Amino acid sequence: MMLRKRVLVTGGAGFLGSHLCERLLREGADVLCVDNFFTGTKDNVAHLLDSPNFELLRHDVTFPLYVEVDEIYNLACPASPIHYQHDPVQTTKTSVHGAINMLGLAKRLKAKVFQASTSEVYGDPEVHPQTEDYRGNVNPIGPRACYDEGKRCAETLFFDYYRQHNLRIRVARIFNTYGPRMHPNDGRVVSNFVVQALRGEPITIFGEGMQTRAFCYVDDLIEGFLRLMAAPDDLTGPVNLGNPGEFTIRQLAEMVIELTGSKSKLVFHPLPADDPQQRRPNIKLAQDRLGWEPKIPLVQGLEKTITYFDGLLARLPNHVFQ
Ligand code: NAD
Ligand code: UDP
Ligand code: UDP
Repeated sequence: MMLRKRVLVTGGAGFLGSHLCERLLREGADVLCVDNFFTGTKDNVAHLLDSPNFELLRHDVTFPLYVEVDEIYNLACPASPIHYQHDPVQTTKTSVHGAINMLGLAKRLKAKVFQASTSEVYGDPEVHPQTEDYRGNVNPIGPRACYDEGKRCAETLFFDYYRQHNLRIRVARIFNTYGPRMHPNDGRVVSNFVVQALRGEPITIFGEGMQTRAFCYVDDLIEGFLRLMAAPDDLTGPVNLGNPGEFTIRQLAEMVIELTGSKSKLVFHPLPADDPQQRRPNIKLAQDRLGWEPKIPLVQGLEKTITYFDGLLARLPNHVFQ
């Protein structure tokens, strides 16, 4: 009998987590998906439930978890500003207590543990593009702090467990990622613009739309996750994973309008507090050590994302997504 690698994915019913579960199953792993369904849904993994190598468990990572696995990917945490600011105390708890519990689990099992960190640890960066040694410019008391500081503290915990308990850790700093199964109403820019364009509603630009982001297609990112997990143990990270192609938000809006053939007009809203002005990853470390770089250009990834949302809206034309 072949022994399958047992892999735990927390936040596995979310956008990135569901793609990761799918990919791990394809690689022949036995996957345990743990999620409290705060922002993720059973629908995201419904197509995996028939697989004998997939298991779904409703659980909140702020509570201890006793299972037996070989590898842990810790993705549990709401990721969009609307969702993580909905209950900011719970957001910090999810990052901090969630990290402690997953690290405690990894320590008991001597399992490898991966942390989904974020480019938000750089805050509103004064260094551009961002390299892993940049320490960031985060407002510790602003509305984004529950997420940014929670993720920073999780990184601290990962490195202290690494130094204190010799844990095998992998920390990825993920930059803006998009693709099918993004939540249609979580306020992130790609899903907002695509849904607005498909419905013929105004495209909501915050500020002048001159702020920049670099957008990575989900399949490229997941490939980076697997390469980092498989890398030699001295590659603890943090490693930036993202697409270095940088666009203004206005350019993104224009691309979405063109690709959907929409008649939507641009409308301008105030810029939210602490919204970073620019962001783009320096991915030299991932290129050198993982031989990884994104392959899917923004136009191509947007086409796939538009096809997904078009299907979703056709199935649920009048649905109000919560
Ligand atoms: P998502 O909201 O779709 O997924 C997060 C998942 O975690 C959801 O399924 C949610 O129900 C679950 N969850 C939240 N709190 C939980 C808890 N206490 N216990 C158990 N499950 C819980 O977001 P995503 O975009 O898939 O993000 C996944 C991870 O990647 C997050 O940790 C996020 O911070 C990180 N990340 C994502 C991006 C991006 O652009 N998508 C960028 C940087 C970092
Ligand atoms: N933990 C867990 N699953 C395990 C082992 C530990 O959820 O299999 C949790 C445990 O509840 C503890 C946390 O992980 O709160 C940290 O564990 P560690 O062993 O590092 O610390 P300690 O138990 O000594 O506080
Ligand atoms: N944004 C926008 N319109 C929207 C949603 C977002 O102009 O409908 C802007 C937002 O202000 C930010 C950028 O798009 O400057 C990316 O926002 P998102 O929430 O997707 O990601 P993050 O700010 O966390 O990088």
